[in-house]
Amino acid sequence: MYPLPLSATLNYMFLKKGKIQREVHGVKEDVMNMIAPQMVRPITRWPFFAFLGGAMFCLLASSTCHLLSCHSKRLSYIMLRLDYAGIAALIATSFYPPVYYSFMCNPFFCNLYLSFITILGIATIIFSLSPAFQTPKFRNFRASLFFGMGMSGAAPIVHKLIMYRNQPEALQTTGYEILMGALYGLGALIYATRIPERWKPGRFDIAGHSHQLFHVLVVAGAYTHYQAGLVYLRWRDVRGC
Ligand SMILES: [Zn+2]
Repeated sequence: MYPLPLSATLNYMFLKKGKIQREVHGVKEDVMNMIAPQMVRPITRWPFFAFLGGAMFCLLASSTCHLLSCHSKRLSYIMLRLDYAGIAALIATSFYPPVYYSFMCNPFFCNLYLSFITILGIATIIFSLSPAFQTPKFRNFRASLFFGMGMSGAAPIVHKLIMYRNQPEALQTTGYEILMGALYGLGALIYATRIPERWKPGRFDIAGHSHQLFHVLVVAGAYTHYQAGLVYLRWRDVRGC
């Protein structure tokens, strides 16, 4: 029999007046959920860390892009492509925790969904970096690629719901995933339609233009996904396969 996860043990170790008092939560508990159970249970963390790596790469690429793009037209052109490649990496790695932890007991579907999103992610990164696809003619095509990559997550989520319809964690994570899909989808829509600057050109040049809204929505989507990832980790740490 497995011992209790270390995080659970630590959470309940503070005693006060004969009663067990649960520790105050926050970032500390999140970190415990990520790292501590690794020491006592063999549930792998790599899909969660792949997602965190993708999110960090995305935000680093965005920051670099917007910091350096004022240098010259040439550098701005290169950096903007890196910005979109970062977002493609974030969306692709976002699939790793839900797919892996939902299907860890079904290696066939686990590998199928992971391979599919990896190939789609690499294709989107190549299209984002390729100069031929930067022309305005391909603007809607690029947006469709991002949108399609996000929407392709519906297949493993519906599959998970059918397999684990009586599992509260499956329903809870689906709620987060729907919210994440809505945030990413809205981001792609704003990017493609250039709202709101199309209505008042020049008015949003400094603040509030579509590219800024797009980044805010991507960060919100990634944070929602992070919360879903923690639910998956708790689920698999406690119940195993
Ligand atoms: Zn950007």
